[in-house]
Amino acid sequence: MNVLLLGSGGREHALAWKLAQSPLLTQLFAAPGNPGIAAHATCVDLAATDPAAVLAFAQAHAIGLVVVGPEAPLVAGVGDVLRDAGIPVFGPNRLPAQLEGSKGFTKDLCARAGIPTAGYVHVHALDEALAALEPFGLPVVVKADGLAAGKGVTVAMTRDEAMGALTAIFADAGASAVIEEFLDGEEASLFVITDGTDAVLFGSAQDHKRVGEGDVGPNTGGMGAYSPAPVLTPAQERAAMDQIVLPTIATLAAEGIPYSGVLYAGLMLTKTGPKLIEYNARFGDPECQVLMLRLEDDLLALLLATARGELAGRPAPRFRPDTALTVVMAARGYPGTPETGGRIEGLAAAEAGGVQVFHAGTRRQGDALVASGGRVLNVTAIGPDILAAQAAAYRGIDAIDFPTGFCRRDIGWREVARTRG
Ligand code: ATP
Repeated sequence: MNVLLLGSGGREHALAWKLAQSPLLTQLFAAPGNPGIAAHATCVDLAATDPAAVLAFAQAHAIGLVVVGPEAPLVAGVGDVLRDAGIPVFGPNRLPAQLEGSKGFTKDLCARAGIPTAGYVHVHALDEALAALEPFGLPVVVKADGLAAGKGVTVAMTRDEAMGALTAIFADAGASAVIEEFLDGEEASLFVITDGTDAVLFGSAQDHKRVGEGDVGPNTGGMGAYSPAPVLTPAQERAAMDQIVLPTIATLAAEGIPYSGVLYAGLMLTKTGPKLIEYNARFGDPECQVLMLRLEDDLLALLLATARGELAGRPAPRFRPDTALTVVMAARGYPGTPETGGRIEGLAAAEAGGVQVFHAGTRRQGDALVASGGRVLNVTAIGPDILAAQAAAYRGIDAIDFPTGFCRRDIGWREVARTRG
């Protein structure tokens, strides 16, 4: 079967690497892909966020499955257009993908379905927001929604800080915001694959969002991750599935906008059980890289069954019990303005040592490989426990020559500390 993969990051390189191992695969295309993906796929110059262009390509190349990596094509309606044309697609339609795009949509759904999440109010004007802030204790969380979503999330320690964040959000006409109760606990990610009706667990992970060691400094797209996340016990995983994920899937199906694809639940593990912080409508990047290293089953068969609505009765995918860990090498300056064009060497030596290097922001310049974005490489290793996986990943890092790059040296530190006792 011919498969088209949309995206160009480390997540998509990991998906391409795993899809290429499938006996069902005839030819893999990637749009736009990257130099790492090019080892497994024919990279094509196609606008992944243009539904008509994706459909035309799929029809012209007898594509049997389209796998959507990032969120943008989902928001653009690529899933809707392909489904309407009868082409199997892994990734939800535009309306259910709002689980990621709109905090208000998700919080309102949680309220309708009785899903455990932080208490909240959804506000649409500054005076309404300031009045709504009154009853909340401290800290309090303020999140931009709708048109101001770029302004992010503030965990405010004082009322003045919360009022400042709300004032900034409502400086934009048409903005809305969510004010939330602060949840105390450790965060973990749970991945579930669903065809809209049935669902299978797809593993857990923890990531490191901050740029600095010890989890300090500005937020990034993610500086590293590991899977599984033992902090999420089997009992908590079951509770998250039964109380959060399955009611979400059932509610969307009952409301006529079934969700098909991967549902990535960001959870806070509180004293009273897991609570939902956020949903994403795609695999995490770099969480996908560690999940793919652990997955034992055929990814293509699973994604195809999902896209065709045939998950019923399928056994849950099998994962190696080992730990996989990935370290992001970023270009100096990231998450501000990254220094692009820096040369990268030594990838073959690193891979010969046993790691898998997934490309994110790289490009070829003549015979050389150079950095072309903020997050550049994902050096990914697997081992019997987190200590072994972490040591192997950093051996890989040390074999790579990327003078204008940097990485955190402490990926996995919480779990490493727990393992060492
Ligand atoms: P991203 O997609 O980058 O994770 P986002 O803009 O979608 O961010 P959230 O995921 O909702 O925003 O929140 C970002 C971070 O803020 C969370 O990962 C968590 O650390 C913190 N946070 C959010 N909501 C709460 C809460 N209610 N209590 C405590 N911390 C929270």
